[in-house]
Amino acid sequence: MNKHFRNNNNFIKAKKSLGQNFCIDERIPNEIIQELAPSKDFCVWEIGPGKGALTKRLIETGADIHLFEIDQRMEEILEGLCAKDQITWGDFLELSQDKLPTPTKPLLVCGNLPYYCGTPIIKRFLEKGPTPTRLVFLLQHEVAVKASVPVNHKEYSYLSVHTALFAKARVGNKYGPASFVPQPKIDSSILILEPIQMSDEERQKRIEALKFISALFNQRRKIALSTLKRTFPETDWTERFSKIGIDEKARPENISPEQFLELFDNL
Ligand code: SAM
Repeated sequence: MNKHFRNNNNFIKAKKSLGQNFCIDERIPNEIIQELAPSKDFCVWEIGPGKGALTKRLIETGADIHLFEIDQRMEEILEGLCAKDQITWGDFLELSQDKLPTPTKPLLVCGNLPYYCGTPIIKRFLEKGPTPTRLVFLLQHEVAVKASVPVNHKEYSYLSVHTALFAKARVGNKYGPASFVPQPKIDSSILILEPIQMSDEERQKRIEALKFISALFNQRRKIALSTLKRTFPETDWTERFSKIGIDEKARPENISPEQFLELFDNL
């Protein structure tokens, strides 16, 4: 067996419906810890700790840990690693904002996210907070790429704009199926997000703009100006395009996050 891989002896059968692909490759916790840079000066939230492959490493750093896990079969393992009140059981996406712990130090967030809900978890942190200093996730390679590419890239999409409006994003290393048990069919990559500090008012403005941006990306092959004229006829879009300097023939994939913000400002 390659020196990067280790056995995991805890016998709990993985549930596909919960996106359980347990990490057996120590390079993954190594990279997450290196990028996240946790210490006793931070609170660290881990989403989906599973059998604790990353959790053990986080605890060693002396950070204040809090875990969010849906699968209560992990109770014995996780309660062996930290106190009961450091674990919130249930679906992280169903948890209301007032049920989240209040971080007493700057917050770092990490996790080897289940493929089926990686994107909504990212969106939740970026839109609703609490706003972490950094987020480091392992997720579907394709999602990590889409979340981080610039305008005019072939993978530039609604997720790229959404992420760019709230954070600086970059992709770390890629890991193949052999890094997990059971093996997924696709590759995974590390995504590092550094949220942009902004007022609640500015955040709300960006969330509003995203409704228009989403409508445009629903027809991503169409000329953006035509879609806007048809869908929101009360605005003089031709004038807005010319003022901002967006080509009248631009498709959504040719419009930068900054241009989108200007386009939908003060509507
Ligand atoms: N961190 C572990 C590892 O690296 O081996 C497990 C990663 S596994 C890909 C995803 C984990 O997220 C599982 O433990 C699963 O039970 C948990 N999970 C799935 N959906 C969840 C949700 N909606 N809220 C919280 N945890 C969830």
